[in-house]
Amino acid sequence: MEISFSGKRALVTGAGKGIGRATALALARCGSEVTAVTRTKADLESLVQEAAFDPQCPSIKPVCVDLSDWDATEQALKDVGPVDLLVNNAACAKLQPFLEVTPDQFDTSFNVNVKAALHVAQIVARGMKARGSGGSIVNISSQASQSALRDHAVYCATKGALDMLTRVMALELGPYQIRVNSVNPTVVMTDMGKIGWSDPEKAKSMTSRIPLGKFAEVEDVVNSILFLLSDKSAMTNGVILPVDGGFLAC
Ligand code: NDP
Repeated sequence: MEISFSGKRALVTGAGKGIGRATALALARCGSEVTAVTRTKADLESLVQEAAFDPQCPSIKPVCVDLSDWDATEQALKDVGPVDLLVNNAACAKLQPFLEVTPDQFDTSFNVNVKAALHVAQIVARGMKARGSGGSIVNISSQASQSALRDHAVYCATKGALDMLTRVMALELGPYQIRVNSVNPTVVMTDMGKIGWSDPEKAKSMTSRIPLGKFAEVEDVVNSILFLLSDKSAMTNGVILPVDGGFLAC
């Protein structure tokens, strides 16, 4: 299935590393103009350089901001211009036993994983609505939104909230032809994945519960994101799409 984003403008948050970075590059290779948003400047510099060295990759526009800061985000994105495709990918995973969760951990996690996704989507969707051109938004959630994982109380709660946000956004933005869906991966061995799952025994305890018997690759997640962003999923709205090898089916 050929997917082209020629003539489209995409914005990807958390584009410095992992899934977000690979998504930004894939979108650019499929012809989209891409704005990459993250908070570590060095990551943006290396991403822009990587795109520049790839003959199939038009240039990527970098925006450096800490998305947990509402006002800084408003300021950083005020001149971002029209966006047709949004990937709300930035998140943090701070793992602690439930009884040790701190207010700081709670606030930071909800600010990045939920509040920033809502805020960036508001900024982008207001423009989509005003232009009357529709659009597609993909929120990156997790299997942890629907399955309890030890030491993941806050992370699970943020992703559960994000799933519900996806559904309400789909409901309210649908009439403007703005589709909103989420992709919910199992473990992917990015920097974030390594925080929780580097220990082989722990990894085995998870892969043994996944019918396909393995973690997801970054590319598995990116392919589902591209599908949901594209017109190939033109009638799909409000869907929570597991990319989990069957984990949530069990
Ligand atoms: P990474 O930690 O590898 O990358 C996350 C990116 O988000 C980084 O570039 C990071 O920047 C950025 N980011 C984090 N906080 C902020 C912030 N406050 N402001 C701006 N940018 C920020 O994560 P993954 O690629 O693994 O995860 C991507 C998405 O996939 C997340 O939503 C995650 O919850 C989800 N997911 C991941 C799974 C996994 O096992 N990896 C499993 C299921 C879902 P910096 O490095 O500077 O903090």
